[in-house]
Amino acid sequence: MQVKKEAKDTPIRYVKGVGPVKANLFERIGVENVSDLFYYLPRRYEDRTLIVDIKDAKVGEAQGVEGTILKTNSFRARTGTYIFDIVIGDGKNKISAVWYNQPYMGKILSKGQKVVLYGKLEKDQHLVMTHPAYEVIDEEKEDKSASLEIGRIVPFYSLTESLNQREIRKVVSEALSVYSSSLKDYLPTKIRARKKLVDAKFAVTNIHFPHSEENLERAYKRLIFEEFFLLQVVMALRRKKLREKGIKHEVERSLFEDFQKLFSFNLTTEQKKCIKEIEQDMAEDKPMYRLLQGDVGSGKTVVAMYALLLTCQNAHQGVLMAPTEILARQHYVTVSKTLMPLGMNVRLLVSGMDQKDKETVRREISSGEADIVIGTHALLEEGIDFKDLGLVVIDEQHKFGVEQRKVLKEKGPLSDVLFMTATPIPRSLVLTFFGDMDISTLKEKPEGREAASTYWVGEEKREAIYSFLRSEIGKGRQAFIVYPRIKKAGSLKLKSAEEEYELLKSDIFKDLRVALIHGRMKTIEKDKIMEKFRKGEYDILVATTVIEVGVDIPNVSVMLVEHPERYGLAQLHQLRGRIGRGKHPSYCILLGEAETDSSSERLEAISSTTDGFSIAEKDLDIRGPGELLGTRQSGLPELRFGNIARDFSIMEEARLEAFSLVKEDPSLLKEQNAGVKAALKEMFKGKLEV
Ligand code: ADP
Ligand code: MG
Repeated sequence: MQVKKEAKDTPIRYVKGVGPVKANLFERIGVENVSDLFYYLPRRYEDRTLIVDIKDAKVGEAQGVEGTILKTNSFRARTGTYIFDIVIGDGKNKISAVWYNQPYMGKILSKGQKVVLYGKLEKDQHLVMTHPAYEVIDEEKEDKSASLEIGRIVPFYSLTESLNQREIRKVVSEALSVYSSSLKDYLPTKIRARKKLVDAKFAVTNIHFPHSEENLERAYKRLIFEEFFLLQVVMALRRKKLREKGIKHEVERSLFEDFQKLFSFNLTTEQKKCIKEIEQDMAEDKPMYRLLQGDVGSGKTVVAMYALLLTCQNAHQGVLMAPTEILARQHYVTVSKTLMPLGMNVRLLVSGMDQKDKETVRREISSGEADIVIGTHALLEEGIDFKDLGLVVIDEQHKFGVEQRKVLKEKGPLSDVLFMTATPIPRSLVLTFFGDMDISTLKEKPEGREAASTYWVGEEKREAIYSFLRSEIGKGRQAFIVYPRIKKAGSLKLKSAEEEYELLKSDIFKDLRVALIHGRMKTIEKDKIMEKFRKGEYDILVATTVIEVGVDIPNVSVMLVEHPERYGLAQLHQLRGRIGRGKHPSYCILLGEAETDSSSERLEAISSTTDGFSIAEKDLDIRGPGELLGTRQSGLPELRFGNIARDFSIMEEARLEAFSLVKEDPSLLKEQNAGVKAALKEMFKGKLEV
């Protein structure tokens, strides 16, 4: 929603009662013009509608009373406290009010004025309200309902130091009376009617000074709907644009059969279902734009390999892009081992390779000799030109920014795109931030693979945990020990990987083979260590979260996480996903104390469930959507009114309306949709990318 030129372009200082000094204060709370002020939402409301005769006022309750000030009195108590008190009466009964240390009250209230006071009534020697809200009644003014303080639902705003509630209310009310009529309504009238939404002016007015609870609710619903609606229009437009023209893959019936034979296991029902969905997308002449989400270890890579195979069978090239070199190399091993027997040329391209090898791969990419290329963002460098890119698979898609995805798209403008994520995304978030994609989901894990049992323990269990590690290693298993930091940092009492590694290696586990890996090591070094660990040449790998993503070493059966309170829920779940990948039972041990309520909530949640989807929902609960996925990667503005968890049903309604609008008017050319177009422009400050 936006305000007509006059209001949007009216700096706040032009509102009556706002001079340059106050304008500055408003700017500090982000309010520069009248439109900003309109959408500066109250933090809470107080219902001050109840006004009673003094004789009916109830002790212990909040209410308003009206009367004339009979006397005022100000003095300093012996304790130094400045006291201002008044007595008001209505001819028969009296009530007093008192203010402590607010000497200016003496300048505002004086004998003979008619006032309304609102506050909790107490009984001392007499009836008294302490620091009540007050309103001086202007006898000249007819319209009593114009009171901003009492006799209505009153808004409370977040304040800066020198702006008080009364002042903000006054300024908002002033601005509303002058400018709210110029508010343009961007929602198409038809949609507004169908959804029974109030108009823009009504919404903004009632957000600040609601005439009733119901009106307040209607006002919010309208703003939330509008916000979601615009967001979903963007999704619908993006989706349409993305699916204009693409490569049509021919699917041979025998391909899937041949593919299945490559594995010693049977694909799960869900893997087959996801493969079908992907196959159907790829067989269309519109580009695929699909998100494959599945918990860690659910077997996404297998699904992706089928898609890669399918594109190669159609004489196109396929790319698999991973966020780290470790992961890229691991995928390379898996994919080449699996698909080479079918004659696919699989190549690796990462920054850590030497120049000559890179050059060779680069040539093979542009000549088309390389069928499948696996790599990191090195694939996005200039000079990497695919002969004929048919499919792009992006693993751990949330690790890549919008920009990076765009670059890859430029290399294969028509190609199908498959995103993979091991961070299960709650449905509400999917519709919000991935609303332009299709979704395939792997929920179950392959048979015979058990999720890790997770235990949250305190320091007193350390010895016991160490012996447990020993006993697992004694059985031929291996262990990760994870620290939040590489080095000791300043005064923080956090254990660090480097320090603890020394201690573990030379003392606690000196009879075992202990290695260290962290993000600041050279890639070659990291790979060497990882490879040796994979081969079983080490028993314990001391690590930071470099091992968080994708690492697949089935023989590891224990993960000890130090300072687990330092991690978010999703991150803990990712970490834990590094184990439970083999046929042995596995154990994730979180050793640490919760520092806050929310950290104990997280640690309890992670220990009590292994289902990534319910963890994701919980995470959304604890942290809110902003932090969880951020709008960074979606390229969308922050939500201001709606909360996608709380207002999910509104999101769904808005989505339906938005998608049908774009279907009817794909370029927003119709007169009735001009407002929507203008609103989008406004929302993205001209930088709209659809
Ligand atoms: P994700 O990428 O979802 O974390 P992967 O595709 O890496 O999972 O699979 C994890 C492990 O499970 C791999 O070792 C893979 O070979 C194995 N796997 C995949 N699908 C199945 C299946 N249907 N049955 C048994 N094992 C499977
Ligand atoms: Mg994977």
